[in-house]
Amino acid sequence: MKNDENKFDIIVVGAGHAGCEAALAASRMGEKTLLLNLYLDNMALMACNPSIGGPAKGHLTREIDALGGEQARATDATTLHIRWLNTSKGPAVRTLRAQCDLGAYHRWYKKACEVQPNLYLRQEQVTDLWVEKGRARGVRTQLGTVYEAPCVILTTGTYLGGKVFIGTASFPSGPLGQMAATELTMSLKEAGLETGRLKTGTTPRIHAKTVDWKSLDLQESDPEPLRFSHWGQKKRYEGFACYLTRSTEETHDIIRANLDRSPLFTGVIKGVGPRYCPSIEDKVVRFPDKTSHMIFLEPVARESAEIYMQNFTTSLPFDAQVKMVRSLPGCGRAWIMRPGYAIEYDYLPPTQLHPWLESKIVEGLFCAGQINGTSGYEEAGAQGILAGINAVLRRRGEAPLVLERSQAYAGVLVDDLVTRGTEEPYRMLTSRCEFRLLLRHDNADRRLAPIGRRLGLIDDERWVELQRRWKAMEDELKRLEERVIHPGEKTNALLTAAGSSPIKEPVKAAELLRRPEVTWDLLAELDPPPEPIDEEISGAVAVKIKYKGYIERQKNQVERMNKMERVLLPPGFDYDSVPGLLSESRQKLKKMRPATLAQAGRISGVTPSDLQILWVALERSRRKGGNSSGETLEE
Ligand SMILES: Cc1cc2nc3c(=O)[nH]c(=O)nc-3n(C[C@H](O)[C@H](O)[C@H](O)COP(=O)(O)OP(=O)(O)OC[C@H]3O[C@@H](n4cnc5c(N)ncnc54)[C@H](O)[C@@H]3O)c2cc1C
Repeated sequence: MKNDENKFDIIVVGAGHAGCEAALAASRMGEKTLLLNLYLDNMALMACNPSIGGPAKGHLTREIDALGGEQARATDATTLHIRWLNTSKGPAVRTLRAQCDLGAYHRWYKKACEVQPNLYLRQEQVTDLWVEKGRARGVRTQLGTVYEAPCVILTTGTYLGGKVFIGTASFPSGPLGQMAATELTMSLKEAGLETGRLKTGTTPRIHAKTVDWKSLDLQESDPEPLRFSHWGQKKRYEGFACYLTRSTEETHDIIRANLDRSPLFTGVIKGVGPRYCPSIEDKVVRFPDKTSHMIFLEPVARESAEIYMQNFTTSLPFDAQVKMVRSLPGCGRAWIMRPGYAIEYDYLPPTQLHPWLESKIVEGLFCAGQINGTSGYEEAGAQGILAGINAVLRRRGEAPLVLERSQAYAGVLVDDLVTRGTEEPYRMLTSRCEFRLLLRHDNADRRLAPIGRRLGLIDDERWVELQRRWKAMEDELKRLEERVIHPGEKTNALLTAAGSSPIKEPVKAAELLRRPEVTWDLLAELDPPPEPIDEEISGAVAVKIKYKGYIERQKNQVERMNKMERVLLPPGFDYDSVPGLLSESRQKLKKMRPATLAQAGRISGVTPSDLQILWVALERSRRKGGNSSGETLEE
């Protein structure tokens, strides 16, 4: 079947966390978009823990939101439990983490896609990518349907060639018993794309009624009203809690006794697993001196008795899992409803992509999410919205959106993927970001919402609300810079009580706020503002004032990096004609074809002296009127 009804501007394959964001962005930008999924009841399925956020991941969720995406809204609408993390570690790494209702989260995305104009949803398995003369033309499905579009976005998650392992048992499957997609990989290989194999895993789910909750440490939601989305309704969350238990020496003995039946340790699983989310058997083997690991028991849905066991990922045999679970305090009678498992799947090494997530091999083909070697809903969502936006810009012949490393965690994520690639599931970490103080949870709107607005992803109402908030922030900043606090008995008593030294002379409020012990709340007690101020605004103002020096320093570093970012390396640059490059560097540069000198510098193995040599060669070529472009790098 091939007809005009099946012609689209953009086709998205996979309605997971990346696919939904991509399809929503493209259709909201006015393109006729088709979203194909194996099964419509698993759209935006939270295959692992139904939690959103945490360090770096929470930053990504806020960035998706600021660009006009759905993830933070879906989170706010379905949160069961929420907390601030890293509150004592400074503003750069402070972020929210929410435990969501898995079913409600899926329904939220499904509805958002169903009501979205220009977006067409269909349940079909894509088996072939249709490519002609190196250009994507569309896709073919298991039913023989051909869908046509100049841009195709692949977001197939862990489903391509999915194979599940539990002890010595293994079978083809997607996550949580979903069917795998078995044919598409072959077609991608035929199109000239390189594929690889990765693995990830998850924990057993146990029945809530079989846990002795009273014996465990309780962790409730933070007491204050919270929200993830910049435009969300702040709410207080009660009624659901997370609980802490720990592995014991007995647990570790059971694990060691069963390693000979572990697919991870017997070499049955070939794919590399996530370093930052290892299985419990990995932890026991890698850290033999550690006698206990923390395990959080967390609800998965309002209407479900299933409990997720955070930090207890395993693919050991089912009988061993039962014993392991029952060796944990509070879980002596626990009934496993679903066993833990490992899953191996095909991915496309992301160095095959341009920085705007389009394939270097097949024009008009974009990839986002776990297919690019990442792990996580937030990583997937961030790539998804960028792929959706860029597919639209590509179709319109407009310049792509490439976020800089100094502009967004999403920029760091994409740059790491396309420049360095990944041979294990890539997870976003705050340590991957060199400008953490600039990329905060609290300023995602100021960094990215103007872009979302320009692209048509933020409507008038939300834009007006942001303008109001930014104005209030500027006003408060100005007020504190101008306002003078005079010494006095009450003032000095309050300062002393906060552990700060008393003042002898009048001092500007902003100067006082720069003291580490002085909070905005204390300042408001010393000198109340004329009107009450929302704490998100006062918090953001306090960060700007307190960290002004550090922020300025990072901005200077960004300026230095931007200079290298502006030195372009032409796509056909002849690295063989540059004498003096290390041969490893030459090889990698030829393979990766970085777009800028800065990107070349981020390729592992390319040294500062290689960069210097390259820069000299570029300059020489530029003076001769050769193929180099971009600006000169001043010393
Ligand atoms: C076992 C397991 C453990 C995980 N552990 C963690 C964790 O600890 N922390 C964390 O942050 N993340 C974890 N994740 C990862 C998280 O689930 C994924 O990173 C995230 O879902 C990836 O989003 P995605 O959009 O790329 O793909 P997915 O959410 O997997 O969605 C892919 C979609 O594509 C569809 N699809 C695939 N192939 C086709 C086709 N040929 N035709 C039509 N439709 C197709 C599928 O139906 C699916 O809806 C885990 C995932 C699994 C499976």
